[in-house]
Amino acid sequence: MERIPLPLSAAAPIPGDSRGAPSFDGRPGVADRFGRALRDLRISVTDRCNFRCPYCMPAEVFGRDFAFLPHDQVLTFEEIERLARIFVGLGVGKLRITGGEPLVRRDLPLLIASLSSISSPDGSPVDLTLTTNGSALRPLARPLARAGLGRITVSVDSLDDAVARSMNGVDFPISRVLDGIAAAREAGLSPIKINTVVRRGLNEASVMPLARWARDEGLILRFIEYMDVGTANGWRLDDVVSAEEILSMIDAELPLEAVSANYRGEVAGRYRYRDGSGELGVIASVTRPFCGDCTRARLSADGHLYTCLFAARGTDLKTPLRDGESDTELEDRIRAVWAVRADRYSELRSEATDRLPKVEMFALGG
Ligand code: SAM
Ligand code: SF4
Ligand code: SF4
Repeated sequence: MERIPLPLSAAAPIPGDSRGAPSFDGRPGVADRFGRALRDLRISVTDRCNFRCPYCMPAEVFGRDFAFLPHDQVLTFEEIERLARIFVGLGVGKLRITGGEPLVRRDLPLLIASLSSISSPDGSPVDLTLTTNGSALRPLARPLARAGLGRITVSVDSLDDAVARSMNGVDFPISRVLDGIAAAREAGLSPIKINTVVRRGLNEASVMPLARWARDEGLILRFIEYMDVGTANGWRLDDVVSAEEILSMIDAELPLEAVSANYRGEVAGRYRYRDGSGELGVIASVTRPFCGDCTRARLSADGHLYTCLFAARGTDLKTPLRDGESDTELEDRIRAVWAVRADRYSELRSEATDRLPKVEMFALGG
């Protein structure tokens, strides 16, 4: 396998106890060993999914007898809300609900209602969003919006029905996902973002139709490089369609120019159409890693804290929480984990990292 060049993290380590240490964004919070603040939390509400996308939960591996988490091991809504409040107290300003497929979790709007009532210590609202495969959005978009969800991201890998059906692994028609997006729009969720994973040999031909569609519909499209998350998807570098390749495909038909990032830590490289007709993003975590700006933590459905998408293990927060630890004790626990964080997997990706054990993406929250 070809070795990928390694850019270095931008920030310098902060020595000693990072309690209250300034981070690269200068705002209060907890900083890790590279000065990266804890600003985003992805909350996985379930490890289950009704799809079997080959790049995430290939059907051959995740068959009928696959042992998902037993229900009593999954955090309750009350436990999620309590932990989310603690994370927000530590400086998190953005909560993303994910999974597995978050919409398969029963009564999800109740969780959204409780999370949308959380505000930051300075009184500013927390940015609450959700990533879904869109299959159950028609009935749920309105209840989610009423519960306080502002915006949403829907994963769409192709507009071609045959390609979409094979990429979701369960023959699910694209028309129902598109109807779910229409329901999200009717419910007032805005903006609507679209995530597209591009995997060589599967959906390169879907790139241009998706770009045109998103531009015409006013949707914010983000192409994601196929990543080596987990170990079940049989990832190979040759299957990655690079951001550069995706952008040049689009630029040849619809000329693009780069736009500067909205904020430090934004993972998508932003581009706009030169004719002013819209924007798109590329998440180039394989060919242009952005670990230096990574401010994300993940809370898995069974209450483990992960400090990197490629982590081999997490820190159990569920046990101390269920054993009766106070908010302050839990906060100290989270602070201690983040203070020693030194993750930069994508910057170090190589043949050696390929062989490391990794938790699957659906399990730790994509
Ligand atoms: N089930 C929901 C969905 O598909 O939107 C949320 C969870 S899913 C794990 C979150 C995002 O991760 C999706 O946009 C999905 O396309 C992306 N994803 C999953 N496996 C990936 C991989 N191997 N490389 C890049 N992105 C991946
Ligand atoms: Fe399910 Fe999302 Fe993974 Fe596809 S990417 S298998 S929809 S969790
Ligand atoms: Fe963040 Fe880990 Fe991804 Fe780097 S590899 S950007 S540290 S999640």
